[in-house]
Amino acid sequence: MAAGGRDYHLHTSLCGHAVGEMEEYLAAAERAGLTEVGFSDHLPQYFLPPDQRNPGLGMGEEELPRYVEKVLRLREAAAPVRLKLGAEADYVPGHEEALARILDRYPFDYVLGSVHYIDGWGFDNPALIDGYSRRDIGRLYEQYFSLLQAAARTGLFDVMAHPDLIKKFGYRPAGDITPLYEVTARIFAEAGVCVEVNTAGLRVPARELYPAPGFLAACRRRGVPVTLGSDAHRPDQVGLGLADALRLVRDSGFGEIASFSGRKMELVKI
Ligand code: ZN
Ligand code: FE
Ligand code: FE
Repeated sequence: MAAGGRDYHLHTSLCGHAVGEMEEYLAAAERAGLTEVGFSDHLPQYFLPPDQRNPGLGMGEEELPRYVEKVLRLREAAAPVRLKLGAEADYVPGHEEALARILDRYPFDYVLGSVHYIDGWGFDNPALIDGYSRRDIGRLYEQYFSLLQAAARTGLFDVMAHPDLIKKFGYRPAGDITPLYEVTARIFAEAGVCVEVNTAGLRVPARELYPAPGFLAACRRRGVPVTLGSDAHRPDQVGLGLADALRLVRDSGFGEIASFSGRKMELVKI
């Protein structure tokens, strides 16, 4: 898989809803022939008071330094796979400073920015799926994309993760959403963020990579770089679907993908 063999979206048991230790994910990466991987486990739920945080949705505050140390320590053992220190951070408006303080404290290679909440509703949580029946789907897509645009504009994130996650359970608006893709791609370009092609979409009712081909094409036209991720929550998901992701990326006209070190991006040919 060579240069395309990069999986920048791996979770671990620390986040409370993934299984497997880092060593198992790294062994799976080597077996899959990946050249570069990054852990991007869910940061603590910094946007909630400590007593309201759900240990099943993000690591504990006290676990974060240990997470960082372990990734850094495993770097040498990971060879020939190159290992990056990433994180997946929720975007919740009004809590930017708290997140900035966390991100400044550690030597992350990259930070994935994710919208998982709309007005406090965890819309990608299977336990809260009934929320869709109480809402207008077209309006929901507008809210989702405006949060995603705001997230990109904060400058806190390097990559916008699973950028049309709102389609996860297969709820699609009746109207044309091309304008949302176009505006969002333009804002990504202005903000200097990458777009993630995330294969988890293939494994949920949406049955489609995140983002949709039309959204990725809009990003390509605007010059937004791309990263790849499986969003593995189990070691056997490392690299899963990456060949499909790479095919869509190439078919969309990309000749390069992004690689990160110390939050600096470099483009590598695919
Ligand atoms: Zn997760
Ligand atoms: Fe996510
Ligand atoms: Fe994730």
